[in-house]
Amino acid sequence: MSLQLAKMTARDAKTALSSRVLVIPLGSTEQHGPHLPLATDTTITSKITQSLIDLRPEQAIVAPMIPFGCSGEHSMIPGTLSVSTQALEFYLVELVRSSEANQAIAIVSAHGGNAVSLLNAHRILQSEGRKIMAWIPTVDALISAAERHQAPLSFRGLWQPDLHAGRTETSIMLALDPTSVNVQAARAGALEDPAKLIEMMKVGGIGAVSKNGVIGDPAGASVEEGLLILSAFAEDLISKFDKFYQKVIS
Ligand SMILES: [Zn+2]
Repeated sequence: MSLQLAKMTARDAKTALSSRVLVIPLGSTEQHGPHLPLATDTTITSKITQSLIDLRPEQAIVAPMIPFGCSGEHSMIPGTLSVSTQALEFYLVELVRSSEANQAIAIVSAHGGNAVSLLNAHRILQSEGRKIMAWIPTVDALISAAERHQAPLSFRGLWQPDLHAGRTETSIMLALDPTSVNVQAARAGALEDPAKLIEMMKVGGIGAVSKNGVIGDPAGASVEEGLLILSAFAEDLISKFDKFYQKVIS
């Protein structure tokens, strides 16, 4: 049986969904500097979601990807397509409300810009009695996975300064789709304190902090590091998914 909702008939979906969580991947179409594709976050979200489906075929089914999210701070750079935080929040709430009242749903997004909408939608839907889970990547998930796997020190120390199209995302894309990475064009962007950069971006967008659309430095990115990051995200998602599944279905 296909585990993709889009390929099922309505009748097959009814049977399959009665004992499974519907996983909705939420990406973004957003500039990722001169060297990474606009679909970077969508590609990463898709891979992490697929890892879950592959490992939990009796518990999960994947819905079609939502390719647009909140990327307002990047909208001045061509190619970015985005909606507001409120629009995405409402969209997610409406989408989940359209499913059967008892359907368990997990929304997965690798794009940090979607976090506010996703967590707000989660709170609203939970208060309405919906069986809903939201997953976004966290620095803690990476650090704990790095420690469990005894990853090299360089890996453990790289998270904080690397917010957008830097070493983290370049490593992941080298691991997932190396032909989509223009290694020759990769350059460092803003390297200041990330907390300060985030505040500046809230006011002036990416243009206020980085000329090339990068925050961090792609130098040092590698396939090995990308695979490690992906497995850390997948492990975190699966452990949270298992707890959710036990609570709402078993
Ligand atoms: Zn990204």
